[in-house]
Amino acid sequence: MNKYNLTIPHIRRSSHLSQPLKKAFSKPEKIAHIGIAVHSIEKSLPFYTEQLGLTLEKIEDVQSEHVKVAFIKIGESRIELLEPISERSAIDKFLKKKGEGIHHIALEVKDIEQRLRDLKTNGIRLINEEPKIGGNDAKVAFLHPKSTHGVLYELCEHTKEE
Ligand code: ZN
Repeated sequence: MNKYNLTIPHIRRSSHLSQPLKKAFSKPEKIAHIGIAVHSIEKSLPFYTEQLGLTLEKIEDVQSEHVKVAFIKIGESRIELLEPISERSAIDKFLKKKGEGIHHIALEVKDIEQRLRDLKTNGIRLINEEPKIGGNDAKVAFLHPKSTHGVLYELCEHTKEE
């Protein structure tokens, strides 16, 4: 018996909640990366490479998002540093509002288009209804934090193995 003698109630699904995915999807395979908003990759990178001892994989511009991105490998996952290169970038707005910090969590999935269609059908709010090309040439799409209990999730499908 646990200390508080709690019984865990079964969570009842009320009709206004979103429906579970009906399709037998493969689970997201891993956390592809954690996106972190920074003012400057040049200034923030040494913390990761020199203080934590991680390895920089590459730095690239992602024009669709108006950001410069640094991928730092950590195990099977990555840290993605995001620096705005234009005021049109969502990262620029994020930095002005909240300052530097965790911006999103990316989940590696298969069949991203179908998954987005099904999520939409099930009432999950999408920021991108169609995937766009993100860093590492992956297909990416964001889910709205209002539908995910406060987390900005990015679905991410890499076509080529890394
Ligand atoms: Zn990302």
